Amino acid sequence: MKAFDVLPLNEWFPGGNEPLIIAGPCSAESEDQVMATARELKKTGKVRVYRAGIWKPRTRPGEFEGHGAEALKWLQRVKEETGFPVTCEVATAKHVEESLEAGVDILWVGARTTVNPFSVQEIADALKGVDIPVMIKNPVNPDLSLWIGGIERLYRAGINKLVAIHRGFSSFEKSAFRNEPMWEMAINLKTQHPELPIIVDPSHICGNRELLPYISQKAMDLDMQGLMIESHINPATAWTDAKQQVTPEALAQLVGNLTLRKPES
Ligand code: PEP
Ligand code: MN
Repeated sequence: MKAFDVLPLNEWFPGGNEPLIIAGPCSAESEDQVMATARELKKTGKVRVYRAGIWKPRTRPGEFEGHGAEALKWLQRVKEETGFPVTCEVATAKHVEESLEAGVDILWVGARTTVNPFSVQEIADALKGVDIPVMIKNPVNPDLSLWIGGIERLYRAGINKLVAIHRGFSSFEKSAFRNEPMWEMAINLKTQHPELPIIVDPSHICGNRELLPYISQKAMDLDMQGLMIESHINPATAWTDAKQQVTPEALAQLVGNLTLRKPES
């Protein structure tokens, strides 16, 4: 398998051997919620990138689907006031254009988009000639080729700051997890492409706060390079994914309790 000539995470996002911690709410609900969460996360000193969903891909129609471009202004304010680089999910060429125009620092492709090669290609085409880091989640279903195919499409468009996000896989079986971790998929990707940074999204694997420490620690034990965890100023009132979000304080505690692997000598 041909290696991707991507930049190591450390070269474009220096942070030593510390895991890259990305945190923020599932959805940008209001300017106040976005700002309050960002300020509290900043205070923890544990977070390096702020995330928030601007366009929300809902499985069923008729629910909150994000504030769209209006909420990009709130992310701009987060950048100005806290200095956090910001990231949001993009699913169409228009999302890409609007995010780039608003100065979003890192883009990510969501699990419901990675399943569709046409959609990933549309995003890749919109990014031709643009130097921006892009993270790509695994597809909702356990299909490693589809995940690698999505990564290849972005790579062929010239993106060389790529990160894979392992967020677990949908299953028909009853399970303690919202999405089965199926670690073998991430391990397989890592074995085939050791050059590709992989981070883990414990929030969407777990679907509830209680399991987050276990999955986060497992990600560290498997030598994954970071975590994306949903954090909300008041999780109980969250408009989306309320059960899995944690307060900034709880997030700091969770990250502080992780045992990190010693770098190999
Ligand atoms: C999210 O990060 O809020 C999200 C919608 O995730 P996923 O694409 O993993 O379902
Ligand atoms: Mn979510």
